[in-house]
Amino acid sequence: MKKGIMFFILVLLASLLTSCQPSKSEEVFRETKFLFDTEVYIEAYGSGSERAGKKALERMAAIDQVTNFYSKSSEISKLNAAAGKKTVSLSQDTFELLERSLEIADLTKGAFDPAIGPLVQLWQTAKREKTLPSSKEIKSHLPLTNYRKIDLNANHYTAFLPTIGMSIDLGAIAKGFAVEKGMEILKEAGIQSAMVRAGGNIYTIGEKPDKSSWRVGIRNPLQLDETLGYVEPHNQVVDTSGNYEQSFTIDGKKYGHLIDPRTGYPAEKTASSTIIAKSPALADALATATFILGKKEGLKLIKDTPDVEGMIIGNDGSKAISAGLNLHYK
Ligand code: ADP
Ligand code: MG
Repeated sequence: MKKGIMFFILVLLASLLTSCQPSKSEEVFRETKFLFDTEVYIEAYGSGSERAGKKALERMAAIDQVTNFYSKSSEISKLNAAAGKKTVSLSQDTFELLERSLEIADLTKGAFDPAIGPLVQLWQTAKREKTLPSSKEIKSHLPLTNYRKIDLNANHYTAFLPTIGMSIDLGAIAKGFAVEKGMEILKEAGIQSAMVRAGGNIYTIGEKPDKSSWRVGIRNPLQLDETLGYVEPHNQVVDTSGNYEQSFTIDGKKYGHLIDPRTGYPAEKTASSTIIAKSPALADALATATFILGKKEGLKLIKDTPDVEGMIIGNDGSKAISAGLNLHYK
């Protein structure tokens, strides 16, 4: 997770901001907060939107705090530090997120693996030191990366990582989960028109105040100043996983930040994967998983999952687009 999320998705904010100036009497909330190492933005309309918007941002900040892989005081870091040693009590949010992560890991046959922590750290060291990990190092990290070993106890809200060196990184799902919980607060407050965004995860409800649809532009991952088209989410989320922002080069070869848990190496064949779905947490994890699976397997997963559409773009520019994805070209 890194800064500059505008590199992932080009939200057509400019047109939005000019076309939907509300009447003076209508309450509007627009605020940006830096969470999950990226920009989180809420835009909400209607009576009570200011209060609900602030509450939603606080809710999202609380999720960042408990799930953050890089903050020593987070619940996830405490769980990781206790690997091979002891069971750790978790908050309801962290527990729910872990439970859903395990379900999605099963659904994706482990392409999305929340136990990816050891490999993420190995590749971050590689990036920092500009040196590739040896195949021996990769091999030694593979058995640690296995979500099936994560032991959750739903009666006591606890988790245990049985092997020293195992660690959980929820970076591929936490933003989607937070967007979901933030929007729940807006909905509970009766808000009917809103957008909640965390990095590349953009979730909208209703229509814009001028009654037009929300639009989310999809960037060409191979030509970053170009927009391929846009989708119009209707009570849906749009999320894109791409390599273009966080990639690094060692010995002339490019490596991305999405790691194939089967090989231990960054996935190579995909340039970006976009998911449009009803569930934000699912969309976030599926964008990562389909990126790793690539066009053929990724598209099959999209087809087999209800309420999910998507587009996977290969590094050669070829596209796999699901039948129900309504991509508008300009
Ligand atoms: P971003 O958060 O950069 O927008 P993603 O949602 O795809 O993009 O999440 C990327 C993060 O997920 C990585 O930075 C890493 O922490 C983690 N990750 C990498 N590979 C995997 C994987 N195979 N399964 C689960 N998480 C992964
Ligand atoms: Mg993701």
